Parts: sequence; structure tokens; C-alpha cells
Amino acid sequence: MKLVTPLGVGTAIWLSASLADASAQDLNVLCGVDEAWCQSMEAAFEEKTGFEVSTKRKSTGEILDQIRAESEDPRTDVWWGGTGDTHLQAVAEDLLEPYRSYNEDDVLPWAQNFYLMSGGMSAGVYAGALGFSYNSEILSEHGVSAPSCWKDLTDPQYRGLIRMANPNSSGTAYTTLATLVQLLGEDEAFNYLTALSRNISEFTTSGAAPVKAAARGETGIGISFIHDAVTQKATGVPLVIVAPCEGTGYEIGAVSIVRGARNMEAARQFVDFSLSPAGQATGAASGQNQIPSNAKAALPPAAPDISLIRMVDYDFATFGSPDQRRRLLERFNGEVLQNAEPVTMN
Ligand code: PLP
Repeated sequence: MKLVTPLGVGTAIWLSASLADASAQDLNVLCGVDEAWCQSMEAAFEEKTGFEVSTKRKSTGEILDQIRAESEDPRTDVWWGGTGDTHLQAVAEDLLEPYRSYNEDDVLPWAQNFYLMSGGMSAGVYAGALGFSYNSEILSEHGVSAPSCWKDLTDPQYRGLIRMANPNSSGTAYTTLATLVQLLGEDEAFNYLTALSRNISEFTTSGAAPVKAAARGETGIGISFIHDAVTQKATGVPLVIVAPCEGTGYEIGAVSIVRGARNMEAARQFVDFSLSPAGQATGAASGQNQIPSNAKAALPPAAPDISLIRMVDYDFATFGSPDQRRRLLERFNGEVLQNAEPVTMN
């Protein structure tokens, strides 16, 4: 891996009460992973430390936007989870605080490299590969064949049958965009995404929404992280998970402390916990299937073996740079989103 309102008296009373509530929190966390894991992590950390935590789940790009908007008066202490290249954006924008947890001594080489790449501002918590999955019942109802490669997804037989997330909000979808650029070259990747967009029924805000929709039978194919698909498949739905034949990209999910965090001691303890075997076990305990970064942490039993997947040499430094992200998103918005005419599944 290269690691590189209108206001009245009643409202005013309510407002002051809610502000008082916010300041009563010992730690404010923005969480980029699945809601179930956000909640189990909050509960485990509160139980271990006695701190009172307020956790809000958002998509990775939305978290970056919020931390940027709050930078003069930070309300968030910790950004936990979500794709690491977006945390690296925050490093480059000077939005994060350096911290080295004692648990860094126990993390796997890919996480050590990520930490070094971030200049000591962000730590790797988990890893997972990108792919797609399909609902075999929906595909057979529509009389279409099973896809096994990225290139298959542009076939007109899948018109209206595919969902992917919007890379402006979703770290999963930004990883998809960056993966395709690395696999195909930039111009070819945009030709591919334009062709793919003709088959897309919806560009969702959240990265896990496409595979959750495929699991519910609301779409045929969802592009997502493979570990998200494994989690959905475990509920007994007819999902088939695909590691695309051309190869694919992967994420390193990260944790970072926000520059100027008000609750610095609690934030440091949260990072320590998130890198510890006990903290990482909250993932499997809430049904998640990412690969934990701590070498002493147990692998979730159903976690996909990413050594069997053909993987691009994902260039985190390049795709985690603000200029590259801004340029790729502008190009995606102008060439793909603006011209997309989402078609619904019949
Ligand atoms: N859910 C899981 C399981 C993930 O691994 C990640 C990425 O770190 C996300 C969600 C990210 O969500 P989004 O694509 O909405 O930013």
C-alpha cells in the first residue's frame, strides 16, 4: 500500500435551555461511521471514562464542511470515523490538533504510515475496500445479468438500477471517484462516470445508503464499501458482494482532534480509546466489519479478507490534497451531476 424561526418568548426560553444542554457535554463528537457504531462507541467511552458525550452522525464531506465553518469558534472536539483522505484535507487546511496516542505503538503499518502522512494530526482506526453489491432477486426480476466489473455498470441494461453516493457529501463516493481516476486515468474516469450516471437512480448523501437500498430491494445495485455490504448481507438479504475485476480502492478510516477543541483532555482520551482493542471492539459489537488498525484488536469474524482483493496503490497524499479534491469535485459537479437525469427503477 502506498501511504503515502420565528422567535417568540417560548422559543427564547427553549433556546437558552438547549445551549445550556450543549455546554453540559464533556465531549462533542462528529461521527462518520454507521449510526449503530457511533452509538456503541459513545456508550462504551462514557462507561469507561464517565465523560458525557454528545455524538452526531454525518457524512464525511459534511463533517469537513462543519469543522471548516466552525474553525473560528470550534463546537466539535473530535472527528471520529470517515474516510482518511478527507481528514487529510482538514490537516492541509490547518483545522486539526496534533496528538499522538500511546496506542499508536500497537497499530498496523498502514495506520502508522497514515499517522505519519498526517503530520501527527490524524490516526488510522480501520480499513476497508470499495466495491459494489447487487440484490439477486431484483436483478432477476428485471431480467438482467450479474455484473462483476466496474465497466459492466455502464451497460444500458442497468438503467435506473444503480445507486451511488454524492462525492461532495460522502467519503465513500469520494473514494469511488479517486479510485476510478487511479484505475482509468482522469479523463477516462470522467467518461466512465458520465456513462454510469445514465444508470443511476439517485446520488445519495450518505455512502452506505446505496447498499442499504439494495438490501431493502429498493435498487438493484449499490456502490459502497465492501464491509458495509457484508453488514447488510448478514441480515439475511439476497445480496451478492462484488470486488470489481479491474481492481478497486480502499479507505483508511481516521480519528482527529479539532484545532482549538474546548474539551481537549476528553478528546485525547477519546482518541486513545478509539485506537485501543476495547474501543475497536465496539465496531464488531455493533455489527460492523471494517479491519481494525490495532494489531491487538480482534478482527470481526465476517470482515472481508482484503488481501484477496485486487487493489490499486491508493495515493492518499494526492487525493487527500485540497486542490485535487476541489478540482475533482468541480469536474464531477460540472460534467456528471449537472447532466445527470436520475431514472427510477420500474
Ligand atoms: N460507513 C462506513 C461503514 C464506513 O466505513 C465509512 C467510511 O469511513 C462511512 C460510512 C463513510 O460514510 P460517508 O460515505 O457517508 O461519508
